[in-house]
Amino acid sequence: MSERPVREALTGRVIFEIGSPDARCVEPPVLDVPMADVSTALGGQARSSTPLLPQVAEVDLARHYAHLAEANFGVDNGFYPLGSCTMKYNPKINEWACRLPGFAGTHPYQPTETVQGVIELMVGLQDALAEVAGLPAVTLQPAAGAHGELTGLMCIRAYHTANGDARKRVIIPDSAHGTNPATVAMCGYEVTTVPSDESGGVDLDALRSVLDTDVAALMLTNPNTLGLFDENILAITDALHSVGALAYYDGANMNAVMGKARPGDMGFDVMHYNLHKTFSTPHGGGGPGSGAVAVRDTLAAFLPGPIAVRAEDGSFEFHTPEQSIGRVRSFHGNVGVLVRAYAYIRALGGAGLEEASEQAVLSANYMQEKLKVAYDLPQDRTCMHEFVLSGKRLRKEYGVRTLDVAKRLLDYGYHPPTIYFPLIVEEAMMIEPTETEGKATLDRFIEVMLRIAEEAKNDPDLLHGAPYDTPVRRLDEAGAVKNLDVVWSPEEV
Ligand SMILES: *Cc1c(COP(=O)(O)O)cnc(C)c1O
Repeated sequence: MSERPVREALTGRVIFEIGSPDARCVEPPVLDVPMADVSTALGGQARSSTPLLPQVAEVDLARHYAHLAEANFGVDNGFYPLGSCTMKYNPKINEWACRLPGFAGTHPYQPTETVQGVIELMVGLQDALAEVAGLPAVTLQPAAGAHGELTGLMCIRAYHTANGDARKRVIIPDSAHGTNPATVAMCGYEVTTVPSDESGGVDLDALRSVLDTDVAALMLTNPNTLGLFDENILAITDALHSVGALAYYDGANMNAVMGKARPGDMGFDVMHYNLHKTFSTPHGGGGPGSGAVAVRDTLAAFLPGPIAVRAEDGSFEFHTPEQSIGRVRSFHGNVGVLVRAYAYIRALGGAGLEEASEQAVLSANYMQEKLKVAYDLPQDRTCMHEFVLSGKRLRKEYGVRTLDVAKRLLDYGYHPPTIYFPLIVEEAMMIEPTETEGKATLDRFIEVMLRIAEEAKNDPDLLHGAPYDTPVRRLDEAGAVKNLDVVWSPEEV
């Protein structure tokens, strides 16, 4: 494919460069009151020159925002199999619900008797999450998955401290999500890593060999970053409890198991959800999320407060548990995300949540089977909501790397999968189709992945040069992060 000129409108002109001094979006009404002198009112502090603001017609403003949206890739543009991120389609009715004035227009300082509906919704969501977790007490405060991990681990520390038991270490399997060891370090614990066994689960002997009364907990990402459900999960939680340690379940990817199996029933004491993944909130780019945490009753007293509760007279109020670790966020968490999650859960019901998990797992296994002929599959067993391929063979035989495959996918209009993660797989591609994609989309993506494997064989340089059809080509990715320049000044015109 030859290089194609990028459309003029997408060449990165900023809004200051379109429009003209005469252009207007709105005409203010003719002044019918005496003109006031602003500088007097501001005690002589008014600016002396007019601010440089863009002046554009409404049509240009509309195009400006539409072009910005087009330059980005989102779930509403196309298939987005970014493993571990659950970039599934978010029903628009959730957006409608969270924008209802009774939710969007409330203020956290309002007296509780004026926001009964919001608190009732929070109680309803806590009940639903407790049910899915098999763990009775829930906080909705944490603002993201990693924040939920920190909150959960702080509760674990408070629990041990209350028992006069100062423990030092937290065990992390090498197939854990990267935020798990980061959380451990942030909480002031030491990380002890345990390796995976041949089948991709936690190596039980290795786990037993590092267990003693210095261990505060183990954090298990399940399904793990290979997309696998740990087959020894009950033996793992038993082993922990036998030395007085607690079991933490990273439930960011509950769309693989909800309605089928409950962390509480598997022996876990604490878990976090990613409401912005599993329960459908648009996410990415650091937008608002929710890392709700559920705990066993023995840990309920340590949860952050305030927590929404139903009072004896049937009204709704907030309550802070006696031995609470305190607040982990201002006010009551990201309430807009809570409303979306509640709307999603109520729309699907218990049976619908279970069906969502079934679809997520079926789609991933379908794709894994179809793609393993052209790519390496390090763990050839039934996967959960995602699976990990390796581009090892393409690299060895044709000098094509996983990065090249990912860039080539952009030309075909797909967001690439997560690449080079997990670290335990060489040239990794972590693919998560999610439950919201139809079979036709899965089939088209499979076809494109097979075609790219052929291209790698027949014309490796085609892949080395990709992408050809995007607003920008290959970026200096480290530079784009480290030397990000988002300030525009008039001199640049
Ligand atoms: C996404 C994810 C996290 C972190 O969630 P954030 O909301 O990005 O902080 C943690 N664990 C797993 C398994 C995840 O997939």
